Amino acid sequence: ARKRDGKNGMQIFDASMLDTARERHEIEQYIESGLREDWFEAYLQPIVSLSDGRIAGFEALMRLNHPEKGILPPAKIIGIAEETGTIALVGERMMEKAIHNLARISRLDGTQETYLAINFSPLQFEETLPHKLAALLLKHHIAPNRIVIEITEAVLMLDNPHIHAVLKQLSEFGCRIALDDFGTGYSSLSYLNRFPVDIVKVDQSFTRSLSTGTADVRRKSRMLIKGIRTISHQMGCTVVAEGIETQDQWELLRKLGLDYGQGFLFSKPMPIESMLQMLETNSEAKASNLA
Ligand code: C2E
Ligand code: MG
Ligand code: MG
Ligand code: MG
Repeated sequence: ARKRDGKNGMQIFDASMLDTARERHEIEQYIESGLREDWFEAYLQPIVSLSDGRIAGFEALMRLNHPEKGILPPAKIIGIAEETGTIALVGERMMEKAIHNLARISRLDGTQETYLAINFSPLQFEETLPHKLAALLLKHHIAPNRIVIEITEAVLMLDNPHIHAVLKQLSEFGCRIALDDFGTGYSSLSYLNRFPVDIVKVDQSFTRSLSTGTADVRRKSRMLIKGIRTISHQMGCTVVAEGIETQDQWELLRKLGLDYGQGFLFSKPMPIESMLQMLETNSEAKASNLA
């Protein structure tokens, strides 16, 4: 049975009700209605420079905001969208929303400095993707080098020449490619060599491992992260740490030489309106400090 309303009316979808065919079917319908009724949103999470905490960019994270039932997170959407074939449309919608949001941020801060990272699943790499992305960037006056395409090893593991061609095209167009959840897969290191990867995103499990377990385990975690950082830098990649929740983790990752970070310590993913508000408050605070 469905809970009518969770705490504060949010997140009412829980794992126990999702395994049945009926729930699946319901989510399929939410996705289709979501596309039709414009329920998809690109939440934004800041990506900060670890040296000074300044915002360098934003990651766009999918949310399906049902007007009565609340927020459906990507974990519940993507698998089903991939199986039913709606993922290309959902992905396109996310691209539109995310780029529109970046344009709004640029209008607010008057700069073209921050970048936007968008997640892509393997089935989104259709031949038409570079053209569609280019058209959106043109429409919103955003340079291709402000866009980061986030993929996981799963995309590269498919070893599909067609996907590689699209990635290469996006890279030549000026977009950067980030390898997401790095360190959780099989042979991540060889991918740095074989594909045009610009950014390595160290999975949040590594960040967590810095502050859990015995002193020896934590020491080894630091060595692992340092190793990933060294290799990534030598391959010419920038390194981003995911899932930073504490000041200690930030401090350690900065000392270990990572470049950027994101996590709840800095900000949770937020709807665009809240993000604009936060950015405005920050810049007002800065202005009054200067005055
Ligand atoms: P990801 O790309 O690795 O995104 C990071 C996830 O970690 C996000 O979960 C984010 O909310 C969460 N996170 C950020 N900071 C912290 C932290 O400090 N602590 C913890 N515990 N979690 C943190 P979210 O938004 O639920 O997204 C989950 C995954 O869904 C993403 O992982 C990405 O693989 C996928 N995804 C999200 N949006 C899209 C999209 O538009 N398209 C596609 N194809 N996949 C997407
Ligand atoms: Mg990501
Ligand atoms: Mg990630
Ligand atoms: Mg992840």
